[in-house]
Amino acid sequence: MANGPPLVPAGDALPLVDGFGRIISYLRVSVTDRCNWRCLYCMSEAVTFVPRSEVLSLEEIERVCSAFVALGVRTLRLTGGEPLLRRGILTLMRALSRHLESGRLDELTLTTNGSQLADAAAALAACGVRRVNVSLDTLDPERFRRITRWGRLDRVLDGLAAAQAAGLAIKLNCVALKDVNEDEFDRLIAWCGERGFDLTLIEVMPLGDIDGADGFSRARQFLPLAQVRERLARRWTLEPVGPRTGGPAHTVRVRETGGRLGFITPLSDNFCQSCNRVRLTATGALTLCLGRAEAVELRPVLRGCSDDDRPLLTALRNAIARKPEAHAFGAALCPARSVAGRLMNLTGG
Ligand code: SAM
Ligand code: SF4
Repeated sequence: MANGPPLVPAGDALPLVDGFGRIISYLRVSVTDRCNWRCLYCMSEAVTFVPRSEVLSLEEIERVCSAFVALGVRTLRLTGGEPLLRRGILTLMRALSRHLESGRLDELTLTTNGSQLADAAAALAACGVRRVNVSLDTLDPERFRRITRWGRLDRVLDGLAAAQAAGLAIKLNCVALKDVNEDEFDRLIAWCGERGFDLTLIEVMPLGDIDGADGFSRARQFLPLAQVRERLARRWTLEPVGPRTGGPAHTVRVRETGGRLGFITPLSDNFCQSCNRVRLTATGALTLCLGRAEAVELRPVLRGCSDDDRPLLTALRNAIARKPEAHAFGAALCPARSVAGRLMNLTGG
């Protein structure tokens, strides 16, 4: 994996600006579409993964990430599928950490289901990772098993303890589901507060078609967070915190616990004006907006020129110029319909 000088000398690169004047400074990368779990809202139990030959190699991922860093991206988030299941992931993280050391990257982080975190936390901290997002929809082991189909809550709890011991800051991602975990938000807020974790509630999004097995339906289980927030505000004092940082979350501070609480409401809110991010799928498609189907295939560019990065840099700039103004979730407010026709694990949540 490359450890040489940056592709573009510092200061030479103009920032990556899209056609609407938004500076792109954040890249999310799905390093694998594979996962050891099958969360009801994410993928069907009988999901078919993409052939391995279509998945980018670690070297190719490193090359795209480094090209983005050279063009001004300041945050890299690895995700999946389950990123910690990708063989060699720590080698990739180590290679990318050179951009932290050079000061060209502010943050290298990941989103994980936590199942492998007990083993990986210390190594992640050694790679310069300072915080992780861990998905956790419930504190009830039985319910946890039902939502993830194959997951075990105790593995996540061990992972969280290891991450904390390694000094990593932790934010929990919780997908809010009607009739599934809506009675647990108070408990989760208190639990996170006691441990110093932040918590983000997420509205379920219509990404990719999943079957209706297990009686789960995104439309039926969709829970508008505006309603949840109103309910939480009766029990907790929710205080506004600083301006948005380009991400989709509305964040408040819970006065009673001191913890931060985020609400991600893509279906009922439009956060697009300040969007600063793009996503790279596990197969090398640059997805310009999570809520739109358009993507630019980078794999042919990567495999067509392995020793010259100029075509890649040009492809990235051209792609960013095509970033859509806004997502299309509103066109399908009924979450039974899939907007982008692709699953979250391939795109990278
Ligand atoms: N496997 C890792 C995990 O679960 O954290 C990383 C990948 S997962 C696709 C990233 C995030 O996307 C998770 O927090 C998950 O809950 C969320 N997610 C998956 N499918 C979703 C959907 N249809 N709507 C909203 N969030 C979803
Ligand atoms: Fe796997 Fe994460 Fe999707 Fe759950 S949400 S199935 S853990 S990729």
